[in-house]
This record gives sequence, C-alpha cells and structure tokens, in this order.
Amino acid sequence: LVVLSDVNKHYGDLHVLKNISTSVARGEVVVVIGPSGSGKSTFCRAINRLETIDSGTITIDGKQLPEEGAGLAKLRADVGMVFQSFNLFAHKTVLENVTLGPIRVKKMSTKQANERAMTLLERVGVANQANKLPAQLSGGQQQRVAIARSLAMSPKLILMDEPTSALDPEMINEVLDVMVELAKEGMTMIVVTHEMGFARKAADRVLFMADGEIVEDETPETFFTNPSSERARDFLAKIL
Ligand code: ATP
Ligand code: MG
Repeated sequence: LVVLSDVNKHYGDLHVLKNISTSVARGEVVVVIGPSGSGKSTFCRAINRLETIDSGTITIDGKQLPEEGAGLAKLRADVGMVFQSFNLFAHKTVLENVTLGPIRVKKMSTKQANERAMTLLERVGVANQANKLPAQLSGGQQQRVAIARSLAMSPKLILMDEPTSALDPEMINEVLDVMVELAKEGMTMIVVTHEMGFARKAADRVLFMADGEIVEDETPETFFTNPSSERARDFLAKIL
C-alpha cells in the first residue's frame, strides 16, 4: 500500500531521513520507535506530504504523492493522521469535528455524515460527548474523537505520531484499546509510539529508527527479545 524508495530529507545541513526504503502492506500495523530526533515524525509527515522530500519516491496504492491541488486533498483523505496534541477544532463540537471532512471533502450530506459520525463516536466510546466542545473533554476522550475524525474519511491508512504521549497515565489505555481494536479490524496503521505493550499486542513489524535511518525492521518478538543492533539494545535498555 505504501512504498518508500531511497527517500532523503534535509533540514538545512541536517540529514534527517537517510535513504529510507521500506513498504507497508495493506492491513499491516507498523510501529516506529527510536530516540528523540531520529526522524520518526518526519517519516510520518513525509508520507502524507505534510513535509516535502528532497529525493526518492513515496507511493500510496501505486501512485506518487501529488504535489498540490485536488490530488493532495484526496491524499489527505486517504491517509488519516492522529497527532500527539489532538488538533481538534476548538470552536466546533465533537460531532462537527467528525462531520466536517466528510461534508466538505467527500460531499456527504449532513444527515449521512451525522449518522456515520455517531456510529464512529460510539465505536470509540464517546458518543455521549457529541455536543460538547473539545475543551470540555478529557485528553483521552479528545484523542478518541481525533481517531473517530480520521476514520470518518474512510482512510486507506492511518498515521499516528505519539498518540498517547500527551495523555495522563490513566487515559493512555482507553486510547490504546481503541488502537488495538482498529489494528484487529485490519486497518493499515503506522504508529510512532513508545508504548511497547501496543507494539507487542498489535504490531506486525517494528521499525527502529536512529539518526535518520531504519536500523531494524523486525517482528516485535525478535525486536524485543533479540535486537540485532547495539543502538537498539541501548535504546531498549533505557526505555524498558
Ligand atoms: P521525537 O521523538 O522527539 O518526536 P523524532 O524522531 O520525531 O523525535 P523528528 O521530529 O522527525 O524526530 O526530527 C528529526 C530531526 O529533524 C531533529 O533533529 C529535529 O530537530 C529536526 N527537525 C524537525 N523538524 C524540523 C524543522 N521544521 N526545521 C528544522 N529541523 C527540524
Ligand atoms: Mg516526533
């Protein structure tokens, strides 16, 4: 579904993605971990073209990422993104947050968008919050709304960049549970997270990034029990 070949990205003199080549199959759940500054967020942002790349190619469903215009809007609809800091529209209700994309981009009727939004809010366990503003919800609830919002666009792929790291500990599990459900239902997911429980439970592969490179690409079992690189061993020793 997603193929990156020889992708390079610099910020000035800093080489943040170094010849990244990897692919993610439909239905696969890939967890990306690695030290701060290793390029994990840049990797995600390149895939839905929130960042440009300097060289190499990225394709989704066989098509190169569009530069701009209608093609880019379509790409954004196909590739959902959930950020660390929920990024909900503060002045819109929970329900409106979820219906906005389908109505504007997918030209869905308000009635149909509302029905679908309620189904999705139900699924992530926050249907009873539909008419509130984001600020009236807990962090865990807001993040579940953000997940419902991205599902509302029927994406082919969801990218999540540290979706639980801004949450208080007691709210982490309610978001992880939703993520595990999505994974089980066959959603293609690329998830940057340090939640090793999620990686063990839901990931098909773990990509370990360091210094702009993918240093390891393993099953969770292999990665956690027998990482092949020194850098991964050091990293695991620090976080586990
Ligand atoms: P973290 O775990 O802290 O989120 P990360 O692995 O997601 O780190 P990135 O955010 O991808 O790392 O950043 C990779 C490198 O690129 C870092 O050294 C960072 O300082 C740098 N960088 C990121 N965004 C920019 C930017 N817009 N301009 C300049 N440098 C940037
Ligand atoms: Mg990051």
